[in-house]
This record gives sequence, structure tokens and C-alpha cells, in this order.
Amino acid sequence: MEVILARPRGFCAGVNRAINVVNKALEVYQPPVYVLHEIVHNTHVIRELEEKGAVFVEQLEDIPKGSIAIFSAHGVSQAVKERANELGLRTINATCPLVSKVHRRVSLLNKINYDVVVIGHKGHPEVEGTCGHASGSVHVVSSPDEVQCLQVNTPSRVGYVTQTTLSIDDTAEMLKALRRRFPEISAPSRTDICFATSNRQTAVRELSKAVDLILVVGSKNSSNSNRLREVAQKNNIPAHLIDHAGEIERGWLDKARRIGITAGASAPEHLVTELVAWLRENYKVRTVREMDGVDETICFQLPPI
Ligand code: SF4
Repeated sequence: MEVILARPRGFCAGVNRAINVVNKALEVYQPPVYVLHEIVHNTHVIRELEEKGAVFVEQLEDIPKGSIAIFSAHGVSQAVKERANELGLRTINATCPLVSKVHRRVSLLNKINYDVVVIGHKGHPEVEGTCGHASGSVHVVSSPDEVQCLQVNTPSRVGYVTQTTLSIDDTAEMLKALRRRFPEISAPSRTDICFATSNRQTAVRELSKAVDLILVVGSKNSSNSNRLREVAQKNNIPAHLIDHAGEIERGWLDKARRIGITAGASAPEHLVTELVAWLRENYKVRTVREMDGVDETICFQLPPI
């Protein structure tokens, strides 16, 4: 068996920053520090931070007054920020700067009386946070069919934003439908799908040409990890999303001679290392190599802590 590792894979700059925010807050303020929702969508990251004293909650009301409350990388609505102030919480915002940029565009579009179309997955925390920056009309669409049903105030005054972790290919279809329906639609200066999502999808597309099967390391609720699995499958390569090597099912790898491995933007590299070690223990692995790919050098500064 040959193993080829995708490049880039795993942690992105926004995830690194969010995890560093929690670690730094634990160091400065001592445990417990509270985090509203999962800081990033990865079960291992959450468990590791819980062991250090982070407490993950689903509601601000579960955080004791005066405590440190960290907002996750996915971002939160204005209403959540205001509620945190009312509750007397000391907040630290770990929202990825690229998500904050989308928030600013939503506010701006509404300010100039545009309807905002958010292309994204309904119910995802990032989409809820993004919609929560609207002061006017906002609509979430997840499929080209939904574009046809949109009811807007003035068809010549519509702008769109997207969730940062969408499939590039699916989003292109959505944009075609939106431009057909609203030829004057206002587009962001460049796509909101972030560099990390885009680089990881491109790498999987390339990797698909060289392997028989792809394992995507990531949690089931991680949007960008699910998109990586879909990219492989769209390229006719069987792909499985696994949280760790223990989830590999009997028979998956029996016929595969070349296995590709990637990891979602919220999956730590040690899981990839453990997966490779598991493959070595259970199969005759001849070579392990990393494909050529983009070097990501972007690094985001921490917010004041
Ligand atoms: Fe930020 Fe993109 Fe990473 Fe999300 S996937 S945290 S938007 S860099």
C-alpha cells in the first residue's frame, strides 16, 4: 500500500488563532473559561481544551456572571454580543477575521438598503452569526432551487455573501442561478470562501487523480471536512470522513493500493500521524509521501486577551 498525504491539510490560520485564544485565556485568567459553542468543530480539540479547564456551553445564560466568555471561530450575532454584555460577561472574540469580514459586508449591504442573500447551510453557527449582523432583509439559500423562490424588496438592490467553508463547485452553481435571477447582484470583491477551504479542496481534487480511496480526518459536524469528502466523491474516488483511525471499517481498505489522506481545517495533525501509524500496523505500507501543494503562511494576530 502507498499513502499520499494532501498538502495543505489540517489546521488553518483561523482555527489556530481560535485555539490559541482559548489556551491564552486559560493561562491569563486560570480555569474555568467558558466558550460559547464548540470553539472549532473537532471532538479531539474540544476534549483537549476541556481537560485544560475550558467549559463549552450552548447558551450564554449557562455562564456565571463576571466569567470569561469566548465566542467561537464561527462568529456570533450582534444580539449574542449584546446579551453577553447584559449578563455581565467578560467576552473575548475568537471569530475568524475572514468571518468578521463577511459580517461587515452584511451590515454594509443592509445599510444601503440592499437585501442580503447568504449562501450557506441553514442552522450552521457561522450562517446564524452572519445573519445576525443584518439590520434589514436577509435570506439564506442552500440550493439553486431556493434561489428561484427568493422574494426580495427590490431586485436591482441585492447583494450576496457566502459561508466561508462551502464547496467551490456547488457555490459556482448557486452564483449562476443568482446572477440569472438578479443580473445586477452585488458580489464581494473576492469570494468569501476562504483561502484555507479553497486550498484544501484543490489539494483533494489533485489527490483524487493519484489514489484509489481518500480518508478525510475531521468531525462529522465540520462543514469544511464534509466538503473535502464530497470533492473526492465528485471525482469518483470513494472517501470516508473519520474522527480518528478507530472509525475505519472492516473492508474499506481491502482493495485500495494507494490511499490519500487529508484533514479538515479543524483537525489536528497528530490525528493524521496516528492514522498513518495505524495503517503501518495493520497493512503493508511501502511508502508514505506528501503531495506537492500550496504552502500556507498566513497567520492571524490574537485579539486582546
Ligand atoms: Fe477562517 Fe477559513 Fe479557517 Fe474558517 S476555514 S476559520 S474562515 S481560515
